[in-house]
Amino acid sequence: MIDLHTHTDESDGTSTPAELIEAAHALRLEALGISDHDTFRGYDQAVPLAEAAGLDLVCGIELSTKWRRTPESRGRSIHMLGYFLDAPPTAGFRQWLETVRAGRRDRNRRLALRLQALGIDVQLEEVERLGRSLAGRPHFARLMLEKGYVATLREAFDRYLAETGAAYVERDEPSLDEGIRRILEAGGLPSLAHPVRLAKHNPSVIEKAVAEMCGLGLRAIEAYHSDHGPQDVSLYLKLAARHGLAITGGTDFHGGNKPGLALGIGYGNMAVPRAVLDSLRAEAVRP
Ligand code: AMP
Ligand code: FE
Ligand code: FE
Ligand code: ZN
Repeated sequence: MIDLHTHTDESDGTSTPAELIEAAHALRLEALGISDHDTFRGYDQAVPLAEAAGLDLVCGIELSTKWRRTPESRGRSIHMLGYFLDAPPTAGFRQWLETVRAGRRDRNRRLALRLQALGIDVQLEEVERLGRSLAGRPHFARLMLEKGYVATLREAFDRYLAETGAAYVERDEPSLDEGIRRILEAGGLPSLAHPVRLAKHNPSVIEKAVAEMCGLGLRAIEAYHSDHGPQDVSLYLKLAARHGLAITGGTDFHGGNKPGLALGIGYGNMAVPRAVLDSLRAEAVRP
């Protein structure tokens, strides 16, 4: 069993890289992929720890991108995973991530102001203390819960932070085209994260979207994810076969920020086979 989609506390997870390695080791995971949002800091710290533990560690990233943004439409939010299987990401890609993080900080500043205007006392400084280099909406949600403005993290998103929430503000995110291109240029394999979010229970919408993304350079699809049911998984495997895409899979473990979701097994519905990673590695070295 492997898990290629996890977050440390360097992005919006709650486990330190050391705790995550420890948990993977205790579970006897055959490989662990760290795919933090917009940063390699968690992965970088995990490298020597994984080596000491004899754990196969995979370098990943998860980018938030905008798809089909036009002057009239703000586009759809698409998460793109990137896996670096045969060489570490380039220095240029790491530099580019710094500009992405600057855009996030600017969004956080505006989001805090907007919440304050709605009578919710959440200061940017508090959010950044909690989320450090990668403060994001889950950290806003956690503070709102601690201060009693909401009863659950879910409520914080539904009422305030989700795209349809009262405090939502736009972030200057890269386009999907740019996200895919940057990952490819950095030596990575771009994989569409949790495709179920494109359109739940609407296979034809997902089929069209995946076909279009293949034209942009998409190379893999996250067929296995904790939010996928058996029918979802079989649809994504079919699409992968049709378009020659590689398969990735992972739980999207966020520690305490996604209660009930465990490393390796998700909500108890997952066990990604080791063969998935073997095929990915074979794919990565293919010219
Ligand atoms: P950010 O990157 O700061 O915009 O925050 C995005 C993160 O917030 C995602 O990776 C999820 O972990 C979480 N998130 C986004 N939308 C929701 C939602 N509707 N409900 C719960 N968590 C969400
Ligand atoms: Fe997240
Ligand atoms: Fe995601
Ligand atoms: Zn994720």
